[in-house]
Amino acid sequence: MSNLKTIDKEYVANTYARFPVEIVVGKGSLVYDDTGKEYIDMGSGIGVTSFGIADDGWKDAVIEQLGKVQHMSNLYYTEPCAKLAEILCKKTGMKKVFFANSGAEANEGAIKAARKYGAEKKGPGCYTIVTLKNSFHGRTLTTLSATGQEHYHELFQPLTPGFAHFEAGNMEELKALCADGTVAAVLIECVPGEGGVTAMDPAFLKALSASLKENDILLMVDEVQTGNGRTGQMYAYMNYGLQPDVVTTAKGLAGGLPLGAALLGDKVKNVLGYGDHGSTFGGNPVACAAALSVVNRLTDSFLAEVRQKSEYLFSRFTGAPGIESVSGLGLMLGLQTVKPASEVIKACMENGVLVLSAKSRVRLLPALNIPMELLEKAADIILAAAQ
Ligand code: PLP
Repeated sequence: MSNLKTIDKEYVANTYARFPVEIVVGKGSLVYDDTGKEYIDMGSGIGVTSFGIADDGWKDAVIEQLGKVQHMSNLYYTEPCAKLAEILCKKTGMKKVFFANSGAEANEGAIKAARKYGAEKKGPGCYTIVTLKNSFHGRTLTTLSATGQEHYHELFQPLTPGFAHFEAGNMEELKALCADGTVAAVLIECVPGEGGVTAMDPAFLKALSASLKENDILLMVDEVQTGNGRTGQMYAYMNYGLQPDVVTTAKGLAGGLPLGAALLGDKVKNVLGYGDHGSTFGGNPVACAAALSVVNRLTDSFLAEVRQKSEYLFSRFTGAPGIESVSGLGLMLGLQTVKPASEVIKACMENGVLVLSAKSRVRLLPALNIPMELLEKAADIILAAAQ
């Protein structure tokens, strides 16, 4: 490890503050470091390994596709891409899918669709995308501009123009931004992941959706972190009874391979035409085969199990010593601890549990199929660390 740490520090760009742990292998929700120490993985690669590490079904799907064709340009048809688009549309009621490789790129696709829709529908001045303060939408310059957190903006001026931000729940602030007719879309997260894991108020999202519909402004939901079963529904917006015009997804979609997607609803399904957008790797057959294996397993009964596990975690943590509050939805939880989150995370790691942070909270994003006995053991260790 010490040698690896030296090489990594010397040659990998300094953008990540890594914990002093090298993970070498794993199975399901257990991972092992280079000394053989075992950890329960309560972070799933920040919500990516939906069915855990090296899951057999996922691995078989990937290996089978690797033996057929690992990549083909978007000049030709490939089965996994078309089949994945079909099932995503059937499960959501959306109409078409643009495939990319990450959450940021999925959001870029959505933003381009919204700009073109606004210009075609209301004229060239209608291009503003409004997002929430404290949101997170990615690290490309445009998705950074969409992200409603100033500290991410400071070092990268000038940003992409055409973004404005409002406080969640403040419909008056939104109405003022929309008054001049220049807003093409509002992009939201139902549960801000990086922003602290606090689920949005249903009444606010209902009012938002109604107001946007009335004014022909697109509702776009960033499901990069909340999607693909994470909140106990296929997508988090389904918990709120919304019907968005655009949904973006990535992270857990392909269970550990890079894949992002912008799902386009009725209003925008034909907005992007030939040559308007593209990506060399977008819709890659191996990533799409992996995603098919994930999405096909997100059945109603499986999602009910996710909700049961969520209830278990909420009941274990709510009111427990050392825990001030519990927030989130499904298997996406934020724990406000009495001790600083960093101390709790360190103690968890020492005792064999990997957890994340989000702002001042400890964030939990376990694999959706984590066995109950591991969830119980992880909860014991987290609670002991928080005291
Ligand atoms: N949107 C949300 C809500 C996210 O949580 C993230 C990443 O954490 C992104 C977008 C960016 O995704 P990616 O890192 O895959 O570009």
